[in-house]
Amino acid sequence: MIIVMSTGASEEQIQTVVDKVHSYGLRTHPIYGVQKTVIGIVGDDKTRVVENMRGMPGVEKIIPILQPYKFAGREAHPDDTVIEINGLRIGGRQVIVIAGPCAVESREQLAQIARSVKKSGACILRGGAYKPRTSPYSFQGLGEEALKLLAEAREETGLLVITEVTDPRNVEQVGRYADILQVGARNMQNFVLLTEVGKSGHPVMLKRGPSSTVNDLLLAAEYVIIEGNRNIILCERGITTFEGFTRNTLDLSAVPVIKQLSHLPVVVDPCHATGRSSLVEPMSLAAVASGADGVMVEVHPDPDQALCDGAQALTLEQFDLMMKKLRAIAPIVGRLI
Ligand code: PEP
Ligand code: MN
Repeated sequence: MIIVMSTGASEEQIQTVVDKVHSYGLRTHPIYGVQKTVIGIVGDDKTRVVENMRGMPGVEKIIPILQPYKFAGREAHPDDTVIEINGLRIGGRQVIVIAGPCAVESREQLAQIARSVKKSGACILRGGAYKPRTSPYSFQGLGEEALKLLAEAREETGLLVITEVTDPRNVEQVGRYADILQVGARNMQNFVLLTEVGKSGHPVMLKRGPSSTVNDLLLAAEYVIIEGNRNIILCERGITTFEGFTRNTLDLSAVPVIKQLSHLPVVVDPCHATGRSSLVEPMSLAAVASGADGVMVEVHPDPDQALCDGAQALTLEQFDLMMKKLRAIAPIVGRLI
């Protein structure tokens, strides 16, 4: 259920309504819009008791939310969510480009990439510190050392930093270094991790699981939102299908589907979706054309030598060229880069 307060409802009226809902043993999630305040109520069937509150001062209407994701859905929040981090607006008119290595390998590697992608126009630096690898024998990432290198690179370039957190016990540590916490595809339904990330309040990018529906993704986002953290970016990164040529199948229609169902920003990761560097540029262009709020790509100065995911990484030069094309296509769909 949501309670829509009338335009101009006073702070006191809002508080009285919130207190009344709490007295029924239900939780509230106020959403302060430009015009109106909307109070979301979560609970089970008991939420119907708030129907008694019709007629309270300042209450305009009380409506049930039919979407299963009560707060990630557009029903409760019709306007697009724009996440602002250090002056960068994610989900607004600007399409954001996130670039960096799959994994942080060394200070030199990261610094070279950070300087180069910044020059080409990226606004966020990615780089894995804790790598979720299929094999326990593969490179697992440099851990906290990588986090320190990411923070150094941010200091030097002014790029924001995103990196994956794989373990609820590391949320606090990763949050000390990163601007955005990434929850990887494999952890999309790690509900303990989602809850911890939600409690941390840090902006989060939630990647779609390879076998998850859009519905599952939005319900996973709901785990973060109900902890009071609305700063969520969703990421389409390909799903498992019978097609074997590509690593996964990029579900590009998920972009407009999510936009219809949810107010949260959507980013596309064409690297993990395709697994092939030759497909990264065309799929990035398609992502922007389809209405994505951003793209995230892996780059490496020497992809053949990369410790992780070299086959899907762009060289620094290829990234620069791709940026020029993205900049050309964005205005056609009313965006800018
Ligand atoms: C990543 O972006 O570093 C990554 C591991 O991707 P995914 O979780 O989508 O596999
Ligand atoms: Mn990777």
